[in-house]
Amino acid sequence: MLEKVLAGVCDTYDVKKIKEFIEKCLNEINFKVTKSKILLKPNLLSSKTPEKAVTTHPIFVQAISEIFLDLSCSVSIGDSPGYESTEKVLMQSGIMSIVKSHNLKIRSFDRRIIKYIKGISPYSKFTLGEDPDDYDFIINIPKLKSHSMMGLTLGVKNMFGFIPSFEKAKWHLKAGKDRMLFASVLIDIYNVVKPSLTILDGISGMDGDGPSNGRVNNFGIMLTCKSSFELDYVIEKLIGPSGPMPISDMALKHNLIKKYSARCVYPFSNDIDICKKCFVDFKFPKTINTDWRLPVFIKSTLRKIFIKRPKINKNRCKNCQICLNVCPVKAISNSGITPNINYKKCISCYCCQEMCPESAITIL
Ligand code: SF4
Ligand code: SF4
Repeated sequence: MLEKVLAGVCDTYDVKKIKEFIEKCLNEINFKVTKSKILLKPNLLSSKTPEKAVTTHPIFVQAISEIFLDLSCSVSIGDSPGYESTEKVLMQSGIMSIVKSHNLKIRSFDRRIIKYIKGISPYSKFTLGEDPDDYDFIINIPKLKSHSMMGLTLGVKNMFGFIPSFEKAKWHLKAGKDRMLFASVLIDIYNVVKPSLTILDGISGMDGDGPSNGRVNNFGIMLTCKSSFELDYVIEKLIGPSGPMPISDMALKHNLIKKYSARCVYPFSNDIDICKKCFVDFKFPKTINTDWRLPVFIKSTLRKIFIKRPKINKNRCKNCQICLNVCPVKAISNSGITPNINYKKCISCYCCQEMCPESAITIL
């Protein structure tokens, strides 16, 4: 079934405006809940303050929490950040004050729940940090960001947070350099979790070499849809021509996206072209026109020339060794003051660049 993608333009984190938009959307898509058990899944990638646009904005979370609390729901919130505790990221992101003032329950996604699915990837067993079946509705609240490995991180990719922190590296290791395979894994995880609704925070977001160390860009947009596949696809169309987008390409191949279909519901009536203007200066990651067009089996000498590689900036590095721990193929070793990258082992997943807290890793 084709799900409606509803968009709204909003240039500030104004709780009243955000609630007005979301309530209009819930009405339009006939999303009715009352006295339900709700789990909010924002993007809590790492402990950054709201103005860095790495995590879902606290006012966005506040607006959504208040809507469901007003409907007499019990509201929990959780994610598994890259390498820190959920509590630490909630604190730094500014969401903890909403958790406390609104009496939300924190879920750390540190359980080991095994789920089986016969999906589109070659894998059928997934270990999740929280059981989606414990809730009546999962509300997916991604942040609109670019992503050096996958192009963009939106609704489907946000469900990767259900994989407990260092388990994430195992999936990167299994997929290796094959982005389409990794996309199929992400799609299977999304379908295991099955969020009921996605509400995207694109009021401020990130472009360039995201999802942690790109450029903050105030897009001024929010989107809602029951299906993240449709929502992500609409964002890609609004941004305009790019390189391949592995998640949507895979979703299209498997008929998970029906067609491009979007309506603007806030504050204009049905003028989706207004939303295109939010992305006029959007910058894709440097990797988009190089890594993705190269077949996986390309000879290593050619890879050295074309593939963008992570490089550590010695002046910025604090030798915290987080990159050593997140690298799925153990290509980074400790060699004194600054770690060393073994490019023969590197699979260009850019997890190190994503997780470096000092922005000391760039892609060259
Ligand atoms: S994560 Fe960043 S700061 Fe920490 S050791 Fe690696 S490069 Fe240095
Ligand atoms: S060095 Fe960085 S980009 Fe290369 S495999 Fe390790 S984490 Fe991925």
